Amino acid sequence: MKRSSDEGIVISPIKNGTVIDHITPGEGLTVIRILGIQDGTNVTFTVATNVVSSRGGRKDMVKIENRELVKSEVDKLALIAPDAKISIIRDSKVVEKKSVEVPTDITGVIKCPNPNCITNTREPAESRFTFHSRGFRCCYCDTVISREMDIGDYI
Ligand SMILES: [Zn+2]
Repeated sequence: MKRSSDEGIVISPIKNGTVIDHITPGEGLTVIRILGIQDGTNVTFTVATNVVSSRGGRKDMVKIENRELVKSEVDKLALIAPDAKISIIRDSKVVEKKSVEVPTDITGVIKCPNPNCITNTREPAESRFTFHSRGFRCCYCDTVISREMDIGDYI
């Protein structure tokens, strides 16, 4: 077990892979789902939920062995865990640390909640949402997925 100096929390180290820290509490399993890691895949992962954060409050953490996230995955992650911090581990060393950035223009990721939206019709247009203060807004029908709604349900 290793104590990480900046956070003061104990995590068991992984040799290679990705650690996602400071996930919104309760969203750890959603992170696993949107990354496409489910039962039946041979990916080894750990989800810690409602861990006490040294910053105060609670958080979720996810560790994924032998996998590094690509940008499109990081962008999806930002939608449900805007405060997440990502560490890339190689040979037991953190080689890269990054924050996620919520994209302002999101194409083809979010499913519009409006069943009559052109993106949900039989010949659908690719969904497109923009991020603004109230949440995510559909560029076609102006439906807003607010911060109070669970964005993970629409990914
Ligand atoms: Zn729409």
